[in-house]
Amino acid sequence: TVEPFKSANLHTQEPPSLQTTVIVTSPNVGPDPTTIICPSCRATVVTRLDYETTTKTHLCAGLLCLFLCWPCAFVPYCSTSCRDANHYCPNCGSFIGTYRK
Ligand SMILES: [Zn+2]
Repeated sequence: TVEPFKSANLHTQEPPSLQTTVIVTSPNVGPDPTTIICPSCRATVVTRLDYETTTKTHLCAGLLCLFLCWPCAFVPYCSTSCRDANHYCPNCGSFIGTYRK
């Protein structure tokens, strides 16, 4: 008797996940460009990153103003650390996912 499921399982054992705990929308994307299979065009692509200015960015700037660091208030707008990273497919341009800090 052929047991296709058993033999298939032998080849699909996944290695232990090395991912750290980050809150992301699915599919899993990180703060850096990620190699992923585009859900839209099914191509294996390295995602294009676009950083989104969020409420948190404004909060960071506001806090810096409050603490009299107003010359530094522009920093959150330049830094990527206060902004969400949107991943797009460079092939078809479709939105893939967002990495939230
Ligand atoms: Zn695509």
